[in-house]
Amino acid sequence: MSEITNETVTAIEATLANVDRALERLRAGTYRQCQVCGREIDEADLIADPLLSHCPEHPELG
Ligand SMILES: [Zn+2]
Repeated sequence: MSEITNETVTAIEATLANVDRALERLRAGTYRQCQVCGREIDEADLIADPLLSHCPEHPELG
């Protein structure tokens, strides 16, 4: 049986933070808006990654 490492906990916390931010954007009505350039993110990209906060062409922002 594998142990749960600090890395696992950190990864879960990062995912939770991303979910929180996505929910905040949903409530604020800016869910589909890119946080970098303000353009609307493609629906197909959001289906592929519902926690996406910016266009796929921007460098990964974490
Ligand atoms: Zn953008």
